[in-house]
Amino acid sequence: MTDHYAVIGNPVSHSRSPQIHAAFARATGQDLSYEALLAPLDGFAATVREFADRGGRGANVTVPFKQEAYVLATRRSARAQAAGAVNVLVFDGGEIFGDNTDGAGLVIDLRHNLGFTLAGSRILLLGAGGAARGALLPLLEARPAAVTIANRTAAKAQALAREFAARAGTTPLDGCGFATLAGRRFDLVINATAASLAHEAPALPPGLYAPGSLAYDMMYGKGETPFLREARAGGAARTADGLGMLVEQAAESFLIWRGVRPPTAAVLARLRAS
Ligand code: NDP
Repeated sequence: MTDHYAVIGNPVSHSRSPQIHAAFARATGQDLSYEALLAPLDGFAATVREFADRGGRGANVTVPFKQEAYVLATRRSARAQAAGAVNVLVFDGGEIFGDNTDGAGLVIDLRHNLGFTLAGSRILLLGAGGAARGALLPLLEARPAAVTIANRTAAKAQALAREFAARAGTTPLDGCGFATLAGRRFDLVINATAASLAHEAPALPPGLYAPGSLAYDMMYGKGETPFLREARAGGAARTADGLGMLVEQAAESFLIWRGVRPPTAAVLARLRAS
């Protein structure tokens, strides 16, 4: 019996997830189908129910429905609760379990694909929207030396830092606007803003990149982003886009659904080549 999965979003036709999960299924010998489902902007819950009713076992959720998926879930993982958003659903009888693998995907990409040591590093997280929120707990759990959240609207970064203060434990965590970053240096700068979508770079002061530092843009697929171009010119030793994060969050979803983690290197290499 083939098990059915889907990615639900709007728009969704551009999604690489069907291609990624088909490759995972082949690599692990799992019998499953995976389709892209366009949900009307006012019809996310109905689309989910319809898919579950026709035998769907689980779904990924993408823009702009991650918060709605959080509300729809009847049970949520701790990391989904921290993120306030859900990108993986599991249908189990009448229950809908919601999880969030975006942050884990980021951390796995940084560690395993890019060989970056998060423990002891000074991290700058740019943005205070859904992507930044989802990344925060997995980053803090990697025991960095310190995490700074910086956002165009400083108050949102400060609020996010306050909200996560208890989860940060002894790791220093602060929130600020971009201008306040002047004079500070970081080992890892993650762009979790939507600036790249508008072909812009966040307006950062110069001198942020420590020797050997990595600049990471969660955005992928549109060539080098203005953020990565500026980072390279501004002293970042290495740059990376978010394609690895996409593949690793998919692998974490696959693990939740199928109990087996697929190999990711060949899939990532093939996507990069295309
Ligand atoms: P949100 O809309 O929730 O948040 C947008 C954030 O970007 C806010 O902090 C906003 O600041 C900031 N921002 C928007 N435009 C600019 C700009 N021109 N300059 C500086 N800051 C700006 O978006 P998400 O958090 O959902 O997504 C952010 C990015 O992450 C997207 O590019 C998305 O594609 C990517 N992403 C990648 C994933 C992957 O698998 N690789 C997974 C999830 C997301 P303000 O508060 O001031 O408005």
